[in-house]
Amino acid sequence: LGVCQICGSFAPGTKNLCETHSLTLFQILEGLDEFMRSNPPPEWLMAGLQEIGWIYQQNPMTAGYFNTAEEVVETFVIDQIVEINVDDLEEINYTSHPTERILVLLENSLILERSGDRLRPGKLTRRLQETRLEGYEMDTPAIKKKIKEMHGIITLALAKSLLKERSFTPRKVIAILDLLSQHMLASPPHEIVSRVPSARIDLALHTMTSRQQNRARRIMAGFNPDGETKILADVNDNGDMILKQSMLPYLTEMRERFRTRERELERSS
Ligand SMILES: [Zn+2]
Repeated sequence: LGVCQICGSFAPGTKNLCETHSLTLFQILEGLDEFMRSNPPPEWLMAGLQEIGWIYQQNPMTAGYFNTAEEVVETFVIDQIVEINVDDLEEINYTSHPTERILVLLENSLILERSGDRLRPGKLTRRLQETRLEGYEMDTPAIKKKIKEMHGIITLALAKSLLKERSFTPRKVIAILDLLSQHMLASPPHEIVSRVPSARIDLALHTMTSRQQNRARRIMAGFNPDGETKILADVNDNGDMILKQSMLPYLTEMRERFRTRERELERSS
């Protein structure tokens, strides 16, 4: 019998992922592929990405990777600088992760390309450069949206590389995406419902300590630097989450694509 390589629970058939984690991994890979593939990237995807960019930023274990990734991306995309030197990076000095480890991770995440100490935009960053930012005034909803999308795509790219390395599982990002996966799997076939029961949230977040869970819930509820809720629009008296309307097309499309891929895999096996 198969065992899930992320959570160790039962995995159907010859697979090495349970259904939730198949879908969680699918969200990461399909999100990145779709972003690289279509120009402009579809609105349902960008709306979903805007809601997940906070996960690494707010997490002390991974903030070092995220902040350096963000610095690199902003330097190339917003300042439009063609090449930088490792010594130009500021954020790398504020983390306990070794410089080499961060650079390898960002290289694997397609955020940068290296030759010696010189850094140039990687494929993902070049793709972000194509989404032009000129003409936007900095303090407008439009640019804030772009920056959130950028954070979301960096989050997926880092999650993919960290999972591939297998040195540690990026537990927090997996837990938040699990929450979305479990909700997609539990919603009726014809629609994604907007209310996520409290018990489902507990189940998805159980791999985190209770302190981390409370913190994640608070951030999603809007207690964070930008004061905006993430993923959810409201929490009711029972502790159920009411999803943002903008999450529903993302969840609908992801689930549909996942089902399609499952059917294809079944046919070809
Ligand atoms: Zn699993």
